[in-house]
Amino acid sequence: MSQAHAPAATSSGLDDLPLRDDLRGRTPYGAPQLDVPVRLNTNESSYDVPEAVALEIVQAVAREVRHLNRYPDREFTALREDLAAYLGHGLTEQQIWAGNGSNEVLQHVLQAFGGPGRLALGFTPAYSMHPIITRGTGTQWLDGRRGTADAAFDLAADDVAAQVRACDPDVIFLCSPNNPTGTALGLDVVEAAYQASDRAVVVVDEAYAEFARPGTASALSLLPGRRRLVVTRTMSKAFALAGARLGYLAADAAVSDALRLVRLPYHLSSLTQAAARAALRHTSELLSTVDAIKGQRDRIVAELPALGLDPVPSDANFVLFGGLDDADATWQGLLGLGVLVRDVGIDHHLRVTAGTPDETTAFLSALTRVTEQENR
Ligand code: PMP
Repeated sequence: MSQAHAPAATSSGLDDLPLRDDLRGRTPYGAPQLDVPVRLNTNESSYDVPEAVALEIVQAVAREVRHLNRYPDREFTALREDLAAYLGHGLTEQQIWAGNGSNEVLQHVLQAFGGPGRLALGFTPAYSMHPIITRGTGTQWLDGRRGTADAAFDLAADDVAAQVRACDPDVIFLCSPNNPTGTALGLDVVEAAYQASDRAVVVVDEAYAEFARPGTASALSLLPGRRRLVVTRTMSKAFALAGARLGYLAADAAVSDALRLVRLPYHLSSLTQAAARAALRHTSELLSTVDAIKGQRDRIVAELPALGLDPVPSDANFVLFGGLDDADATWQGLLGLGVLVRDVGIDHHLRVTAGTPDETTAFLSALTRVTEQENR
């Protein structure tokens, strides 16, 4: 097995560098990128871009190459128009911002609204990059709590409001559907977080919105009249374009003006803009696998209890499951059988991405073998 792009988590010599004090002892994002047959650890789409769409993207990119002597459209206006049209909800291009992945968009938000002396609150376990991006911008991070009387990973509106009031943050992160736990938030939670502060920017990370179960409302519907609300999305998941690096947000137009103050000029290359626009012309083809992926997600949720495991219901393209005696041993056992899943650092739990039917079958049979061995 070859290990590609191993994270440089323990690179030697950091102690001797004049590194910022607040970065000492920190570990970088490090989901393993391993060359194994079944890769279900970073919630990518397992489906390749359809050939006809790939060709259109190549042609669109090719048309730009002759003009690479010029900087790209710094305002990526046409792309913002296309993204606004995709999202609907009456949004205009002035309300859209984009970056190289939603991670970069989140970084812009933190650069503009966080920073030294400011505080960001998130409700963990949630997306592991939220605290990393927060700290990278010199913003303080505070771990809020999840959990209701009924469900360990849910969030209740009154509890969120109380936590916001208690720490008076500058930025609040909500993640819906939540990575790594899978469930979407009710809009009452978003409204409560917003109302509990009269100054915090509330970021709702909807990277997995397209996979939500029917009846799940997007926080996009709450944007009118809420100038501090920001909803982030990405083309990395449902659009199967993780490699292209295109994330975006919708918010009040003034938020885009704030982000212009911190972005690097020309941050979205003309190749990225062309690729994303070509992809958006083929939204229905690219999103055509979403139902199949949701089907595999629901199959995983349905089948895990027979193995004595405890899946969390999911609105995303992954499933968190508990009930493991030793999550690390199970992770290793699955890897030994060529199946890579994610250890998200929650005791007795692992997370698996829903991929193709064959990948689900490979995952379930490997997990059956591993749990049988462990119980012997
Ligand atoms: N938000 C969440 C909740 C995610 O899970 C991810 C990717 N794993 C991202 C944002 C960032 O994705 P990207 O930068 O590829 O848009």
